[in-house]
Amino acid sequence: MSRLLVGATLALLLAGCDSGTGQNAENLSYEDLGPFKTDADGLVDVPWDMPEGVVSSEVFCGPYGYDTLATADDVTDASGSAVYDDDAPSSGGLRVSVLDDTLPVLVPVSPNLEAAAGTWTLGLYISASDLPTTVSCAAINRIGDTAATNTVDVNLVFVGVDGLSAGLNAQSGAGHEGLQSALTTLDDLWSDLGLAVGNVRYTDFDGATDTYTTIEGAEEFGDLLRTASDGPELTFFFVQDIDLGDGASILGLSGGPPGVAGYGGTSKSGVVINAADLDASPDEIALIMAHEGGHFLGLFHPTEKDLTGVDPLDDTPECSDSDGDGALTSAECAGSGAENVMWPTAQVGTATTFSADQGWVVARNPITIPD
Ligand SMILES: [Zn+2]
Repeated sequence: MSRLLVGATLALLLAGCDSGTGQNAENLSYEDLGPFKTDADGLVDVPWDMPEGVVSSEVFCGPYGYDTLATADDVTDASGSAVYDDDAPSSGGLRVSVLDDTLPVLVPVSPNLEAAAGTWTLGLYISASDLPTTVSCAAINRIGDTAATNTVDVNLVFVGVDGLSAGLNAQSGAGHEGLQSALTTLDDLWSDLGLAVGNVRYTDFDGATDTYTTIEGAEEFGDLLRTASDGPELTFFFVQDIDLGDGASILGLSGGPPGVAGYGGTSKSGVVINAADLDASPDEIALIMAHEGGHFLGLFHPTEKDLTGVDPLDDTPECSDSDGDGALTSAECAGSGAENVMWPTAQVGTATTFSADQGWVVARNPITIPD
């Protein structure tokens, strides 16, 4: 049984958590919205409330399985206006992914659509083979202040990485040269977002290490993220390799985007990092963490390499297909996208910047803490 089904307040869940300053925890509330049954077309309306003083709000529904995809058919705001339509997904200030197992929808992911008190509605669409189907939904709301500079607490979970000097575990992590170098570079990259690494927890994975050291397929990826703890922190799982089934080695993967913020137990509750090169290339690991962590916190690629979409931000660079071959390359997008850390194939030393709007989004995520 997923913890999605357990009704509890986040405040209670956080009571047993030793991370975080508490400053943000008291500004977070968790609401179990209960079960929702779709109609025979896979559609169901999921209303959720944003409180007075809301800074950000995230609703998420699942689990519906790794072989099933879901997205938002539409989203309406507190005034009843449609603020998202999947027939024109890039036209407004909201962006919703098409995801397996659990669908999070985060507001805001752009200054063009701010969170606002009242009842919003997610028009959930689940493309299941067997309909109707029933999922559970929950929401996390953040109230309080925002600031131009913020911190985020991180939990580094060591699943298993072979061959690293001095090993890599909860005991060695704080003194591991490659890891500390990566964290320093991560902090430097994120400084352009106005974001700093806050408290760092070092945790040994206590699950099936043999299975999850090498992630094979979406189910293992999602099941590993389900083991993330509750609490306002960003969980990075360090593994030896990631292969989603096509034989290609992936450097990093975030739940979402966006991830489910502040709540463990879902297949979107963290980020997985391929740390095989941590000794040889700590700057590369730092860039992967900065990029995938950015996804988790609500950032999308400025332009997709296959030209299927752009992010909802006005100030990120957009690259055009100058050679008309239907795909973008880093060389083609030099000076018009490749310098942004959220560029799809970010390169060390080239992708070093974020935009002001990207900083604005991250400053409002439920798990970041204003200075
Ligand atoms: Zn990416």
